[in-house]
Amino acid sequence: MRIVLLGAPGSGKGTQAKKLMADRNIPQISTGDILRAAVAAGTVFGEQAEKIMEAGELVPDDVMLGIISERLAEDDAAGGFILDGFPRTEKQALDLENLLGGLGQPLDSVVLMDVNFDVLMKRLTGRRTCSLTGKLLNIYFSPQEELDACTDAGGELIQRDDDNEETISNRLEVYHSQTEPLIEFYRGKNKLKVIDAAGSIDEVYDRFVAALGS
Ligand code: AMP
Repeated sequence: MRIVLLGAPGSGKGTQAKKLMADRNIPQISTGDILRAAVAAGTVFGEQAEKIMEAGELVPDDVMLGIISERLAEDDAAGGFILDGFPRTEKQALDLENLLGGLGQPLDSVVLMDVNFDVLMKRLTGRRTCSLTGKLLNIYFSPQEELDACTDAGGELIQRDDDNEETISNRLEVYHSQTEPLIEFYRGKNKLKVIDAAGSIDEVYDRFVAALGS
């Protein structure tokens, strides 16, 4: 099963992709996570990417093509994948089509996670990662026991550098101008499924699985 998850920053792509990965045994490929790993590794490329990400801008398409080509060539992607955060521009969508076309592995579904602005802002400003477990949490939505479990075990609730208000507003603007056009792109190819991404993680997951149709 080859899936693209589309949606604004904060729409819950990462959370839903991780759940599906656990259920279906196909990898979540998050280009944001790949870039954050490069930043953490302190490579020259990581330093360049860090500046772009902190500004809420997009890493150039040709760089992203290199990253995604390498990642899709890994063994674990042979049986399918969930792309989370890629493509983000029309050029990236075309590159992906070429790449998958060449492998004879077209996309099965593109799922748009649809959610309103107020929910996005709360999900983004409240988002935290537990430093011990890597679990994604939210100070507004996660059960208090889950937040406490992290801190009681000596962990910290870490906020992403790009989850501050200024960067968030730029990321949403970039989404609107550069990524939203992909909705029509995929609708035109009869691949698009739209789900309501407001509600609890489990509610959204049920809609996600239903949209995938199996
Ligand atoms: P994410 O974790 O998906 O919200 O991505 C975090 C940041 O990484 C984005 O705001 C971009 O700066 C960068 N990024 C992630 N995926 C892409 C992509 N497909 N194209 C360009 N930049 C990306």
